[in-house]
Amino acid sequence: AASASTVELGTRFARELPELAVPWQAEEAPDPQLLVLNAQLAAELGFDAEALRSADGVRLLLGTAVPDGATPVAQAYAGHQFGAYSPRLGDGRALLLGELADETGALRDLHLKGSGRTPFARGGDGLAAVGPMLREYVISEAMHALGIPTTRSLAVVATGRYVRRDELLPGAVLARVASSHVRVGTFQYARSTGDLELLRRLADHAIDRHAPAAADAERPYLALLEAVSAAQAALVARWMLVGFVHGVMNTDNMTISGETIDYGPCAFMEGFDPATVFSSIDHRGRYAYGNQPAIAQWNLARLAEGLLPLIDDDQERAVELAVAALERFPAQYGEAWSAGMRAKLGLPADVDDASATALASELLPMLELSQVDLTSFFRGLSGVVRGAPDPVRDLFVDREAFDAWAQRWLALGPDADAMDRVNPVYIPRNHLVEEALAAATEGDLEPFGRLLDAVSRPFEERDGLERYAAPSPERSFRAYRTYCG
Ligand code: AMP
Ligand code: MG
Ligand code: MG
Repeated sequence: AASASTVELGTRFARELPELAVPWQAEEAPDPQLLVLNAQLAAELGFDAEALRSADGVRLLLGTAVPDGATPVAQAYAGHQFGAYSPRLGDGRALLLGELADETGALRDLHLKGSGRTPFARGGDGLAAVGPMLREYVISEAMHALGIPTTRSLAVVATGRYVRRDELLPGAVLARVASSHVRVGTFQYARSTGDLELLRRLADHAIDRHAPAAADAERPYLALLEAVSAAQAALVARWMLVGFVHGVMNTDNMTISGETIDYGPCAFMEGFDPATVFSSIDHRGRYAYGNQPAIAQWNLARLAEGLLPLIDDDQERAVELAVAALERFPAQYGEAWSAGMRAKLGLPADVDDASATALASELLPMLELSQVDLTSFFRGLSGVVRGAPDPVRDLFVDREAFDAWAQRWLALGPDADAMDRVNPVYIPRNHLVEEALAAATEGDLEPFGRLLDAVSRPFEERDGLERYAAPSPERSFRAYRTYCG
């Protein structure tokens, strides 16, 4: 493992796509304090965790001292925000420090959020507060532990600078890691320049990093669209199965890699309800839990529009091909969701798809009618196999209806141990996240550490963590609101 300042930060994005990369520097921090460091991720990336904790290491995590040869850049992108197109968004308060080869040889972006204003900042201050950066840290690490593709969190450093929101809040910089930060909005931006050579270079960059098989396809750029569609179908199915509500699925917040990105107003649903919205600004419920698959497909259509000139010289033909690819999304999503639901229900491989689908589609309205806590339900369901039905049965208003469903389900021979390997005990529940962030903002990181520990091993039930397995005791958390930090 290398010391922080000798690790090599690649400049591939900046070199290959200079039109999309503005060289920029992070802002100095008056009094840096490392709040949390992901030692395991640091090791995966070839860092010496102790070196990252040193004063030099913390300066790297703030972007204020980077290794020789590194070229931090603010990335340009466009995007549809709540359906309305913004031609120029870009990293207003973020920087790509560079790329690192991880232990498997794969390229990973090292990226900062909250590192100061850039030329894309518009009216923003370029900063981030401790609470929202720790929020991204704990939720992204929880998603990773659940096996859901996501950007990772390497560290949060408090800057010692205050940030003005509704009140004055302590500021912080998040260091995050992704297989890249290329977004649907990056393609929209490249397309809008009218420079087809740039668009092709971006698509080739994305193919090489995220869909190498597409390079050998008859139509590589159509194959890229198909690969992104498959990755997003699989991703959103995983969100749906754990009750994750992203909250701001703008096209600039959707990656080409298929990793979850931008943990702003996201939250986990407790009582099952497809209309669930947490974001304070999502008045019409565009990004409600139940809309997420349709929105993902809508965003992919925006990607397809960006790629059209590369798909075929004949634009009518290109549209036909792209539409056919987009029309496969519902089936791709449905297959990913059904496979995941079969696993959650512990169904043996010999159970036919029709029986599995029938069971699942009868279950959802029952969960909705009783506003059943999704996580408690699925985790508790293995108990029904083991002869302890009451904790789950008692979640339902209509217990007889549940009994009838459970009888048919049990007859299929579900595997309780297999269920416990896919149904988490611990998720970052909203009231626990809020409690941890409020304490951290006051300087007490202990509740944050305990929550992080629980959600980092979500399938492993542990004594003393009962509180972390239960839904919010307060009904007011049903009206929980999240804000863009
Ligand atoms: P988001 O809603 O987090 O996806 O961000 C949308 C756009 O707003 C992106 O271009 C961000 O870089 C920019 N942005 C968000 N917060 C700030 C801030 N405090 N200062 C500057 N730019 C920001
Ligand atoms: Mg964003
Ligand atoms: Mg954001």
